[in-house]
Amino acid sequence: MQFKDLLYRLYLLRRLENGHAVGDDEVFVTEVVHASLCPRYAWFERHAPTTHLNEHILRGVAVHEFVAALFSQIDGAEKSVSAEINGVRVRGRVDVAHNGTIYEVKTVSRLPDAPYGHHVLQAQLYSFITGSPCRLVYIDGEFKIQEFEVPPPEPQEIENAVAHAAAVLRTPDPPEGRESWLCKYCTYPCKLRGGEG
Ligand code: SF4
Repeated sequence: MQFKDLLYRLYLLRRLENGHAVGDDEVFVTEVVHASLCPRYAWFERHAPTTHLNEHILRGVAVHEFVAALFSQIDGAEKSVSAEINGVRVRGRVDVAHNGTIYEVKTVSRLPDAPYGHHVLQAQLYSFITGSPCRLVYIDGEFKIQEFEVPPPEPQEIENAVAHAAAVLRTPDPPEGRESWLCKYCTYPCKLRGGEG
């Protein structure tokens, strides 16, 4: 089997792990982030997920597995976390938890000058759930690293984002899309990209 196919299998396994036992009153941290970017994308990811794979996702899977293996050697392995926020169970998996700090790792083609808003939201969700500060770590294709401290979460913003995601995911039909950079990577049916729906 080719290495790329092995990575693809790993990616599908990860998706299955993330997708099990999700009820109407449960959301994953990644779903909250997706819903904040585009409710339609979040809805499809929950109810009819694509198995489409691109180089960007493959690189992310490979780097995350490497980081998880590396930090499992010390007290910093990836771990599952959850909390109830206004009646919604929010689940997630932090990349690295070490010495009371959470590290959220992102792979990018170019290191940013400032952290991206949706990554900050994700990091703040982990901070809110665990009560620990979170740092965002960007790794580019040459394995150069840029790190940012994330401001503490605003409880009201977190609660609003979780409630929004839970409401979006409960709707029986896919909601309207919201155009953003995410459209470039999206394969779901959407009139905003010239398709139907
Ligand atoms: S194409 Fe853009 S607006 Fe439409 S579902 Fe995908 S991410 Fe959302």
